[in-house]
Amino acid sequence: MCGIVGYLGDQEAYPILIKGLHRLEYRGYDSAGVSMINAKGDLSVYKEKGKVSALEESVKEKDVTGTIGIAHTRWATHGEPNATNAHPHYSQSKNLALVHNGIIENYKVLRTQLEKHGKTFQSETDTEVLVQLIEYMQEKHQTDLYTAVQRALTHVIGAYAIAVLDQRHPDVLIAARKSSPLIIGVGQNNNNAHGHAEFFVGSDATPIIEYTNQVVYLKDEEIAYMDRDGNLRITNLANVEQTPDMQTLQMNLDELEKGGFPHFMLKEIYEQPNALRNCIRGRLSIDTKDVILSGVLDNRRRFIDANRIIICACGTSWHSALIGKYFIEEAAQIPVEVEYASEFRYRNPVITSNDIVVAVSQSGETADTLAAIQLAKSKGAFVYGICNVIGSSIARATDSGTYLHVGPEIGVASTKAFTGQVITLIMLGLTIAKEKKTLSKEMFEMLVDELLQIPDKIQWTLDNNKDIEKFSQIFTYAKNFIYLGRGYNYPVALEGALKLKEISYIHAEGYPAAEMKHGPIALVDEEMPVVVIAPKKGMYEKVVSNIQEIKARKGKIISVVTEGDTTVKGVSDFCFTIPDTRDCYVPLLAVIPLQLMSYYVAIAKGRNVDQPRNLAKSVTVE
Ligand code: GLU
Repeated sequence: MCGIVGYLGDQEAYPILIKGLHRLEYRGYDSAGVSMINAKGDLSVYKEKGKVSALEESVKEKDVTGTIGIAHTRWATHGEPNATNAHPHYSQSKNLALVHNGIIENYKVLRTQLEKHGKTFQSETDTEVLVQLIEYMQEKHQTDLYTAVQRALTHVIGAYAIAVLDQRHPDVLIAARKSSPLIIGVGQNNNNAHGHAEFFVGSDATPIIEYTNQVVYLKDEEIAYMDRDGNLRITNLANVEQTPDMQTLQMNLDELEKGGFPHFMLKEIYEQPNALRNCIRGRLSIDTKDVILSGVLDNRRRFIDANRIIICACGTSWHSALIGKYFIEEAAQIPVEVEYASEFRYRNPVITSNDIVVAVSQSGETADTLAAIQLAKSKGAFVYGICNVIGSSIARATDSGTYLHVGPEIGVASTKAFTGQVITLIMLGLTIAKEKKTLSKEMFEMLVDELLQIPDKIQWTLDNNKDIEKFSQIFTYAKNFIYLGRGYNYPVALEGALKLKEISYIHAEGYPAAEMKHGPIALVDEEMPVVVIAPKKGMYEKVVSNIQEIKARKGKIISVVTEGDTTVKGVSDFCFTIPDTRDCYVPLLAVIPLQLMSYYVAIAKGRNVDQPRNLAKSVTVE
């Protein structure tokens, strides 16, 4: 995820681009860059590590003139955040400059081919292959920029939103997209004979809305040609002309930044299907039914020979780690321990050089987890990181690892990072299982196949539980909640309870369902809402008995059930439905209604869900 801005018109581009980047900074903020063509026809590229303000500072003495330009605020996926890897990227001849949002899955293959054709690369990004490939197409087929972009994109696998400049054509701006958003703003005067044509490009409408409310949402595999005469031409990759679907924007700036959602947390909950598609992109293959986690494959022997895995994490990451433990032990037959990093670091844990320590943290800056890594390293363990923020301290301190690629998470209560961590730990388990041959080929392929369906099943869950908002209001009276689950769903119970505590300030506890009768059942009365994760899987019958025990004590049952279930539904006061899936993947679906419920309960209680009291997004202190 990142922010793209583009401008073509008769105003100076730079101020419009910089303002636009500031508006898009919520999408990514590890480096930024800008590119303009000045009146002499020179194409400039300026980039800087850090926030947009650092870029502004660094270009103070530079020539930033020009009435056409593109700009980018990066949230790195390939290559650490530094000035070289920042966008825009030049082509080899420096005639072209390009900005990109997304992930090019086959960039390694393309890069090798382009190197054979004499192209040399400056950065470690996947993006640079795009601009080199476009230039290669121009040279090979002697075509114009538009056709070269079109031809290049037919060779690309992955997700992209791009904007491209060619210094030999200072009157033309090209943009294209697939699976990453891109919007074109059409100037108010474009169709006025006396007016001056203007076009704006943005990852969302926030950089555009100030200038025009006439926008075209580019569709997948569409390429747009814009010029100073006001021409807007859109085709698909097969060069079939598409009619631009002009829309009038009604939203204000604040609504736009949150994608039309009232809070980042709700936006991030709804973003999960796409965020998880990005997470598995280039790692799970539909065609070969395979899992490729290079961080593991580059260190295969370490993983095959490991005695055990210790996962260190805090908070929500600790819950995803617990699901990871269940899966890795089941699939890869290797003992896994899950530790609170804050405890681990101050004990004197037994760690040997045959252990693998996996550190899980959204921000990659969690102080306790970092300290746990140092301890593990000092005892000779191999340390593997799972974090979301590229180039973060944990990413740098570990021997190897995997990024979540779910995009920046801004809401303090983690949602998409949790599901991203679960999927990543499952991919880790599958990769080790494959290397150790602990799963049959059929079982392995079936698990890969089903994992590929999960983003669609999350979408289904979001679409089919619309009444959560209404009934969440009922529970604002509650002082306590209990969450119950068994097996893979016990960590989901913990996570559901944590979400509620964090943002609504209602006390909540998660328990393994069968533990109820060892104490907590004493708390149940007609006031007590009890959330039970009861999919038609594994220990279904036993969970049904646990529900009966609570019902008998007049507790209010809120259940999460599999589509089509009637038994649990019949004894529940409220019910959320999820699609059927494998036992091990149920947490990825069951957590969705729990995230939504905590959000709506908190809203009904008037809480600040994006910035709950006493909490910080990343815990960089002990
Ligand atoms: N994959 C590209 C990179 O790492 C683009 C990332 C983004 O969307 O910001 O540079």
